[in-house]
Amino acid sequence: MIKIQDLDFSYGNLKILKKINIDVEKNEFVGIIGPNGSGKSTLLKNISNILKPESGLIYLDYKLLNKYKPRELARQMAVVPQETLINFNFNVYDLIMMGRNPYQDRWGRITEEDKRIVDEALKLTDTDKFKLKKVNELSGGERQRVIIARALAQKPEILLLDEPTSSLDINYQGEIFDLLSYLNKELNITIITVSHDLNLTGQYCDRIILIQGGSVFTSGTPDEVLTADNIGKVYKTEVIIKESPLTGRPYVTLIPRSYNRIKNREKNITIHLVCGGGTGKELMDKLYGEGFNLTCGVLNQGDADWELAKRLNLETVEIPPFVPIEKEKLQENRDLMEKADIILVCDTPFGYGNLGNLRLVANLKDKDVILYEKRNFAERDYTDGLACEYWNQIIKKENTFKTSRIQDLIQIINKLD
Ligand code: ADP
Ligand code: MG
Repeated sequence: MIKIQDLDFSYGNLKILKKINIDVEKNEFVGIIGPNGSGKSTLLKNISNILKPESGLIYLDYKLLNKYKPRELARQMAVVPQETLINFNFNVYDLIMMGRNPYQDRWGRITEEDKRIVDEALKLTDTDKFKLKKVNELSGGERQRVIIARALAQKPEILLLDEPTSSLDINYQGEIFDLLSYLNKELNITIITVSHDLNLTGQYCDRIILIQGGSVFTSGTPDEVLTADNIGKVYKTEVIIKESPLTGRPYVTLIPRSYNRIKNREKNITIHLVCGGGTGKELMDKLYGEGFNLTCGVLNQGDADWELAKRLNLETVEIPPFVPIEKEKLQENRDLMEKADIILVCDTPFGYGNLGNLRLVANLKDKDVILYEKRNFAERDYTDGLACEYWNQIIKKENTFKTSRIQDLIQIINKLD
């Protein structure tokens, strides 16, 4: 539907957009993200023909954008700009009616169809109830919905929005994205929205384009784009990516750069986790946030701990689910344990499948081991006592420590160092 080929753009002799290539299919819901000043608004203005590319081509439905007459383009594409300069003295109804301009004759006669379409836009955006109010009497969220209603009155195939939620409270932000989602899914309007909010974009958009310094850094599904690695590189900040419990989509959480974290990072301590079945998640999360290097293994692919380890980009020995651990993998895991400063055994149940991990720990020499025990070990032994034997061997060693509280755990780690 939209094809951008090698787009370059400069303000004066300051190059802003460099070799941008983007394809947007009909009915897509695309989010454009990137740091402040990376060129998102400039890109959107090029796509909406407000700015002209310095070089490169932009097609809309196989026709060059600059071949469209303004009225013709306005029937295809509507724009909700970042700063809206509108005369706030208009009332809501009249402002939305302006969206019909590209369809009206030169006297601006309002037809029955214009009225019907404006009514429809009022209903869709739930602006009906204040249609006779002046725009400057509305709250930020209401005003934003009115601007979107005006865009909808254009009956566009494509809706372009520049940070439509930037000045809104969290409940209005969701409301706007819910509306966009409805327009996309139910009315088949193609949506391209710039947003500074990684999480809203991640929850709602089908595809995300990440811009850095005027170029496309990467694009793809939220899962592909919202990785700790990408965000770290582009935004120069450390984040953890989790999965939203509701949508299963990636959720970005900032890691506070606390004093502890900076200190721990400098110490460069590596902890190897023996976990599985979600028994390592809380510790992994906490220790990662505290700035420790973590490794894991052996974990089954698809396991809750494995998923988090992957999201955090941890070095992990992994095997497919429901297969016993082969020698090779045990060896790999032993190598990781040897490289680590500390082994942390989580409150994990042990069966014949993962018993090998515990045996490795029992056979380690001169390695600090911390047992994080919330439940009595006997309750977690599904091997008729074999696991208990290893456990007792581990406990007897002089560099083994045991705790059931995360705070104590961190103290032990810092003492061991
Ligand atoms: P974003 O929307 O990603 O924050 P913009 O596209 O607004 O970024 O701006 C990209 C760069 O272009 C910034 O460095 C900004 O200062 C510059 N810029 C934006 N508008 C103009 C303009 N009208 N004249 C000159 N430079 C501009
Ligand atoms: Mg902008």
